[in-house]
Amino acid sequence: MSQPERRLDMEIAKTIESVRKLVSAASSAGARIGLVPTMGALHIGHISLIEEAVKKCDFVVVSIFVNPTQFVPGEDFQKYPRSFDADLEICRQRSVDVVFAPTAREMYKAENLTWVNVEKLTEPLCGGFRPGHFRGVATVCAKLFNIVGPDIAFFGQKDGQQAVVIRRMVADLNMPLEIAVCPTVREAGGLAVSSRNEYLTKQQRKDATIIYKSLEKCREMIESGVRDSKTIIAEMRNVLRTVPSIQIEYVSIVEAETMEAVEHIRGRVLAAVAARIGSTRLIDNIVVDCGKE
Ligand code: AMP
Repeated sequence: MSQPERRLDMEIAKTIESVRKLVSAASSAGARIGLVPTMGALHIGHISLIEEAVKKCDFVVVSIFVNPTQFVPGEDFQKYPRSFDADLEICRQRSVDVVFAPTAREMYKAENLTWVNVEKLTEPLCGGFRPGHFRGVATVCAKLFNIVGPDIAFFGQKDGQQAVVIRRMVADLNMPLEIAVCPTVREAGGLAVSSRNEYLTKQQRKDATIIYKSLEKCREMIESGVRDSKTIIAEMRNVLRTVPSIQIEYVSIVEAETMEAVEHIRGRVLAAVAARIGSTRLIDNIVVDCGKE
């Protein structure tokens, strides 16, 4: 297979002013602007978003910013994987136009007093375990949207609750852009690709495939007609418990748009799991649509 061509003239913008200038020149020339927000340590999940952005847009900005405000105290902000040079190479090979890589000082110049809080949707699932996380995510995305001014921003279904929260923020605040959500990219065994998989040992990586197996069990049960979510969740927990190293944080089935827990499954639901293996926290989800029953 031939290697994709490297883009030699990719720009690296470290300041808000410089990325604005580059985007504004492209917009004036009529380009449709795409933004892929990331925290770097790019992998095939991120690449799928970049490829979609390159397909749909004329000018693509990838932001690489490990956003301190979305980490809860005691989490892995300091040790979060960083691989800037490799990330740049990946972006060049995928014909990205600009990598926006600001410092935390550039993004949060002084004490930050203005926050974006999306209510309700941020309470269940990860919201219950990472207080303040979605406030940090929504705020940094609002800032990135204001800085870059994209026509479309690309997110992954891997972080399903995040995608719903950002979509709602964009709708509620009348932000003039579209949110595209791309499917979750998985390893051969089903494990959702994640920057945090780097923390796992070989055995733990194997163990972690049980998370997707529990979600597949959920899909199977719904497809075979089971509608009581308690029954399905109990069975998913049984599947997860076959791997002793797993510590379950939550197993939930919620309505796909409102994130409200459902008792009787109908319409589009999101089944989501968060679990720890050792000290590594992993999340995954699937959306199942059972139509209008
Ligand atoms: P992160 O760098 O982890 O903040 O992720 C940046 C974006 O990539 C988010 O929109 C994620 O949902 C998305 N992403 C991460 N992992 C995957 C994956 N395995 N498949 C699809 N999208 C992903």
